[in-house]
Amino acid sequence: MLDKHDLQKCIHCGLCLQACPTYVATGQEAESPRGRIYLMRQALEGRIEWAQARPHIDACMGCLGCQTACPSGVPYAKLIEAARAEVETHARTPLQRFVRKQALRSFTNPARLRTMLKWGRAFGMRCAPRWMVRLLGANESAVQLPQLPPKSWRPSQTVYPAQGTPKAHVGLLLGCAQQVLFDRVHRATIGMLTLTGYEVHVPRDQGCCGALWIHNGYPQEARRNARQLLRAFREVDYVVVNAAGCGSTMKEYGLLFRGMPEQADADAFAQRVRDVHELLYAAELPEPKRADSLCITYHDACHLVHGQGIRQPPRALLQRLPGVKLIEMDGAEMCCGSAGIYNLLQPRLAREALQRKVRSIRDTGATLVASANPGCTLWIRQGLQEAGLPIEVLHPVEILAKAYGVMP
Ligand code: SF4
Ligand code: SF4
Repeated sequence: MLDKHDLQKCIHCGLCLQACPTYVATGQEAESPRGRIYLMRQALEGRIEWAQARPHIDACMGCLGCQTACPSGVPYAKLIEAARAEVETHARTPLQRFVRKQALRSFTNPARLRTMLKWGRAFGMRCAPRWMVRLLGANESAVQLPQLPPKSWRPSQTVYPAQGTPKAHVGLLLGCAQQVLFDRVHRATIGMLTLTGYEVHVPRDQGCCGALWIHNGYPQEARRNARQLLRAFREVDYVVVNAAGCGSTMKEYGLLFRGMPEQADADAFAQRVRDVHELLYAAELPEPKRADSLCITYHDACHLVHGQGIRQPPRALLQRLPGVKLIEMDGAEMCCGSAGIYNLLQPRLAREALQRKVRSIRDTGATLVASANPGCTLWIRQGLQEAGLPIEVLHPVEILAKAYGVMP
């Protein structure tokens, strides 16, 4: 629920404006964090209808660049999630809500997502179908259908033993898109964690973390997913996540259940969530087995850098590899425009953000981009391909697993 005290923390200083990709792209106050906070306040006080605020709330990437930049401690993540829930309830028709929920159900169910992509490809579709994006309220289809890996992957074991005496038991979140499209990232994660002394558990009944639901204004559905994870990961010391958006949401489960009977459980769960880079950065790593000469630039996934405050660990882990040259790009912390399903819903602004990102990558001269979120990886790959740049995009853990010789 929108909290007026959170809204009042904004002192209108404007220090967040240049960190906001939609403000940078449009120059409009209503597309800035400050403008959106003002609109939320107006709507909360009944001075305007939520329908008037809706286009500007919808155009927000939810990247949280503003939250990092804000000196006044405005909890923007909390505000935009609550504002989106208000928009869904008060400023959409039942048909719009139905369509949006169906889309979210498909994206957050690995079996459905796999089938959709398989059939889409079988029918020769290159992009998300126009009728679908129209139904979702967008006017063009900007997102290419990703290629499914040749074989669908399921973990062969539920427990992967540590090399040596286990120092902790960790549970691996499989997620939705990550599981369907990036099984290599999971295999690399298991390889790196077992190498560093963690016993990795992969509970069968996990499901989605709820991030897409909460980011699109459906907290009830997010809670339903979260409850399943609370049960599935009860026995492990840490819950390890390799997708930035999921990890950021799971670290906020306490907020999702505020004032509810599950709050204590959710708080305790959130305390145990770790991004994979956090665990690997704190671990003692052996000497890498390979020293490939690589020129890498690192893209900060918004929900890793702004949502979880993780900047240094992925960079430091990559820099430990002999042969790696890490070159910083301009605007590494600026959103690429993928932002969950934002690129489906807001193609124009998403494309502008992608083009900025592609230019920054190109200017580094790097031949490899490291990106720790599946949505960013797909979107940046698409942008690089469209620009004719032969640059690969991989998760940092894939690069590490290859260097340490644990990529199965
Ligand atoms: S979350 Fe990102 S797009 Fe939205 S207001 Fe903040 S900086 Fe701008
Ligand atoms: S930096 Fe913070 S306080 Fe200043 S305008 Fe932006 S949100 Fe408001």
